Amino acid sequence: MTARVLIVDDIPANVRLLQAKLEADYYEVLTANDGQVAIDMAIAEQPDIILLDVMMPGIDGYEVCRQIKDHPETRHIPIILITALDGRDDRLFGLEAGADDFLTKPIDDMMLMARLQALVRLKQMVDDLRRREASSRRVGLIDNEQYLRQLSATGNVLILDDNVRQAERLMMQLGEDHRCAFETDPTRALKIAGGRVDLIVLNLTAKSFDALRWVAHLRTSEVTRNRPVLAIVNADERQQVFKALELGVNDVVPRPVDMLELRARAKTQIKRKRYGDFLRNTLDRSLELAVTDPLTGLNNRRFLDHHLSLAMARHVKGGPELSVLLLDIDHFKRVNDTYGHDAGDEVIREFARRLGLNVRAIDMACRFGGEEFVVLMPETGSSDAVHIAERVRSQVADIPFVLADGRKLDVTISIGVATSQGVGDTPETLLKRADEGVYEAKQAGRNRVIVRNAA
Ligand code: GH3
Ligand code: MG
Ligand code: MG
Repeated sequence: MTARVLIVDDIPANVRLLQAKLEADYYEVLTANDGQVAIDMAIAEQPDIILLDVMMPGIDGYEVCRQIKDHPETRHIPIILITALDGRDDRLFGLEAGADDFLTKPIDDMMLMARLQALVRLKQMVDDLRRREASSRRVGLIDNEQYLRQLSATGNVLILDDNVRQAERLMMQLGEDHRCAFETDPTRALKIAGGRVDLIVLNLTAKSFDALRWVAHLRTSEVTRNRPVLAIVNADERQQVFKALELGVNDVVPRPVDMLELRARAKTQIKRKRYGDFLRNTLDRSLELAVTDPLTGLNNRRFLDHHLSLAMARHVKGGPELSVLLLDIDHFKRVNDTYGHDAGDEVIREFARRLGLNVRAIDMACRFGGEEFVVLMPETGSSDAVHIAERVRSQVADIPFVLADGRKLDVTISIGVATSQGVGDTPETLLKRADEGVYEAKQAGRNRVIVRNAA
């Protein structure tokens, strides 16, 4: 896994050292030796990750960090702060400023690579979501900025630790910011993790169960895959820490646990999870809204246009034929006039339901507008299309519609059927033929299926 890394440090020798290490591992490296340059580069170059020195003249690392995390174009870029060895306050200050992680000087190669990998993996996931979310935002369905401001860093925390006394201490500390529960049994913890849990704090040095194996389990299940894990580790057991990060532990805190640091890191993880959840949810909702008719839940006209063009393009290039049904409810105005507009809506919904039940899984039932519907039938010839049209017609005409208030009414529909005709045919000409079929059906007395294919 490779990525573009921006190294920011005012001392050229430090930059060169880090650059050499990263390039040896096939990372692409950008460099800046001043805070303002770093901010500008982050915006212009959109690196995947930033390694940021704290001590710099002019704008220091914290301020650079804050500005990058405040800017909508750069706030998603992970930042690793590089602090002095004894810089406990530096680290807390850095996390408050929005840093995603930190490393202490002199930089330990193994920790550097592990942290880079974990953050790059996360960044790629977020990038993917952001890309898809941006395209749905263009459709105008999401008020992103407003939602982001509401993202809270308070959540449900599950502590898994076989050391009850330590677990209770963690509960007390984390309880200041979050709703906490602790569990000493790994199997039960795995079950709880499938519920509404925003963060898992795991004692990686637990003696009564294999914490690494537990993380592996957590990561293989679809439900718990994205749960952030903050592990309490023994810093001397480097291989174990490394393995944990590789398995997808999101962050580590060494023992003895500095409670303020733990709380700061827990907040960061929860914020990040909320951001991921937000992107995923808005994406799902907006994708669905963009192609769904709200009254009936059927596909809308945009969906039809898209899939009809695709199917037709394949067809004229020698692909399979396709058919469409255009269905129009007979004398629908009378339904509205007699029973009221709400009853009219009920009829449309019930018709849509029957339509959906009587077409095949590969068929795409769409509300074309008003009381007109279209079914797109890929890889379907005229006789199958007529057969299905006839089934829908009879399922509507033969069974009365019952309104919510109990009143019953008879409904019929007229259906035009058209099948593709090779080169020269277009979505428009195909739909026009189906529409002519509907017109003819109305002329002939309604409640019937008419096939219109040009000679
Ligand atoms: P025909 O048999 O010739 O199709 O007659 P019709 O009355 O169905 O045809 P027309 O197209 O003249 O009228 C359709 C009516 O459907 C007009 C419009 O007010 C009504 N309509 C369109 N959309 C909706 C809707 O969402 N809800 C309700 N209740 N009525 C709708
Ligand atoms: Mg009509
Ligand atoms: Mg009608």
